[in-house]
Amino acid sequence: MDDVVIVGGGIIGAATAYFLSKEGRKVKVIERDPTYKNASFPLSLGGFRRQFFQKENILLGKFAREFIFQIPELLKTEKNPKPTASMVTNGYLLMFGQEHAEEQYKALENHKACDAGTKNIKGSELTKFFSYINSEGIETATFTDNQSEGWIDPFMFHSALKSKATELGAEFTKGEVKSLSEIKAKTIISAAGCWTKELLEDIPVEPQKHTVFRVKCPKHIPEMPLTGDLTTGVYWRPEGKEYLAGSPKSVFDAKDLEPAWDDFEELVWPALAHRIPAMEELKLTGGWAGYYDCNRLDNNAVVGKHPKFDNVYLATGFTGRGLMQAPGIGRALTELITTGAYQSIDISNMAVERVLGKKARPEPYVL
Ligand SMILES: Cc1cc2nc3c(=O)[nH]c(=O)nc-3n(C[C@H](O)[C@H](O)[C@H](O)COP(=O)(O)OP(=O)(O)OC[C@H]3O[C@@H](n4cnc5c(N)ncnc54)[C@H](O)[C@@H]3O)c2cc1C
Repeated sequence: MDDVVIVGGGIIGAATAYFLSKEGRKVKVIERDPTYKNASFPLSLGGFRRQFFQKENILLGKFAREFIFQIPELLKTEKNPKPTASMVTNGYLLMFGQEHAEEQYKALENHKACDAGTKNIKGSELTKFFSYINSEGIETATFTDNQSEGWIDPFMFHSALKSKATELGAEFTKGEVKSLSEIKAKTIISAAGCWTKELLEDIPVEPQKHTVFRVKCPKHIPEMPLTGDLTTGVYWRPEGKEYLAGSPKSVFDAKDLEPAWDDFEELVWPALAHRIPAMEELKLTGGWAGYYDCNRLDNNAVVGKHPKFDNVYLATGFTGRGLMQAPGIGRALTELITTGAYQSIDISNMAVERVLGKKARPEPYVL
């Protein structure tokens, strides 16, 4: 019998394998596609932030930053003595219209309670800090300017976690698990991302297709933060000398991962040009689509032991924030499995019982 088997070798599987191996557990990770062609993490924007509504998401975002800053030290291996995730710490800027302002003021109380270090300004003050933004229709905005938020290269992050976990004794194997009953292990962890329902049908997490566009703009603003305009749902960030911009439209039951190209002209370009007049002149240079592991109950993660089994744990439903939450979730699951309780960040509010009992705990700030 195996000690720990993790189903799914994506970012959550790799991070959990790292933390459990560090505690001396013998971990086997089963991944059906080691090229990760359709997995969510390589198709993500790589953002890490602490600007959320729910306290556990703020705290997990803070730990993401702490962990990412320590990658060179924590994840170095004999083969890769200088690991990196190509971090850019331009921060995040989230802008809210009248309809979201009250909710944001409540979120700021949670930011304060968690010592998130975010700054809040009136919409009318935006141009003092971000001269290139048209503040029309923005009631309030929150940002960081202390290197506490930004983005990383998701594939490099995964690779560094996987290599370190392997050095610590974890074994990554190719294979498809059709049913959890096939596995004989003391502890089983489902880290199957948006495909979790195939293994655990009572978990309401489903693939939700999101499109990201790559654009070129004659005016380059390299210091621009990852910016979310909650009045339109469009978000963007610099990528080298270009920009990436996400469509606000998402689709369940998508047939394939062909990008929704029409969204660019209909939704994304008009929203960008309105908010940043310099982006009136844009050239579309590419794009892709990927699946969010969307929790249809409340857009919030589901993590913990499944009450219907003796030895099954799961982590999914991150709805656009699984990359940044991976270190915190890997550590939390390791604490739960090895000590019986969360020791660092209490994420009991994400428990499986919450979704089985349909007790929603929504996280409104989904980009
Ligand atoms: C366009 C886009 C932008 C995003 N932007 C961000 C962002 O800025 N910041 C952020 O934090 N997050 C972001 N995300 C979300 C993030 O990518 C996901 O939440 C995260 O990757 C989930 O990690 P995971 O390991 O659970 O799933 P995945 O990365 O999908 O990995 C799951 C793995 O499990 C394997 N698997 C599934 N079922 C089985 C089985 N039965 N047997 C064997 N293997 C199996 C799959 O092949 C896959 O490799 C974004 C996602 C998208 C699509």
